[in-house]
Amino acid sequence: MDAAARAAALSLHAVETASCVRCPLSETRGSVVFGAGDPDAELMLVGEAPGFHEDQGGEPFRGEAGDLLERLLAAIGIARDDVYLANVLKCRPPQNRDPLEAEIAACEPHLFRQIELVRPRVVATLGNFATKLLSGRPYGITRVHGQEHEVTLASATVVLYPLYHPAAALYTPSMLRALEEDFARIPALLGRPEPAVAAAAPRIEELDAALPSRVVDTREEVQLGLF
Ligand code: URA
Repeated sequence: MDAAARAAALSLHAVETASCVRCPLSETRGSVVFGAGDPDAELMLVGEAPGFHEDQGGEPFRGEAGDLLERLLAAIGIARDDVYLANVLKCRPPQNRDPLEAEIAACEPHLFRQIELVRPRVVATLGNFATKLLSGRPYGITRVHGQEHEVTLASATVVLYPLYHPAAALYTPSMLRALEEDFARIPALLGRPEPAVAAAAPRIEELDAALPSRVVDTREEVQLGLF
């Protein structure tokens, strides 16, 4: 299937999912939050479940955690529209409680179909629920964040990259630092060069080379003046 056919099939699946009643969350949801972004994205990010803002607006990652996610992506030179965003659950659990096993099992086919149609190269799982579901392993995110490994999902081989959930990092500075460091490796996992921002600070030799020689002399004078 070419990219246009996959995008069309994804749109069709979104329409079908809008009336999903596979679990009781269909009775309390405001809207089905299917997914958003580039249907041919190389990078897919999978969160946990829609929250209040997403349930209202119908798009994933629209609240504070979404703002942070956008900033983390921008720092590695990737725009929100260039990735595909999805969640383990497509409907908001009441009071944002944790997803139940039965809800995850009922909703899982939607996520696997999204992966099958988008065919990302890298799937970054945000937090415990997405990581455990897509890795098929019980390890918590604290133990496995930043450790990429190849898995077969929806009959395609992808690089699974577990990350802390941005909502958790919002309130824990050490987690935010780890998340930033893990994000910095995404371009390499996508086979892209490091973003230009990483090289933004020139080395001292480069600064010196750009100076006229008499200014270098002045520096020496200044230094002499320090003793
Ligand atoms: N918003 C989402 O869409 N997913 C999350 O996991 C959290 C906030």
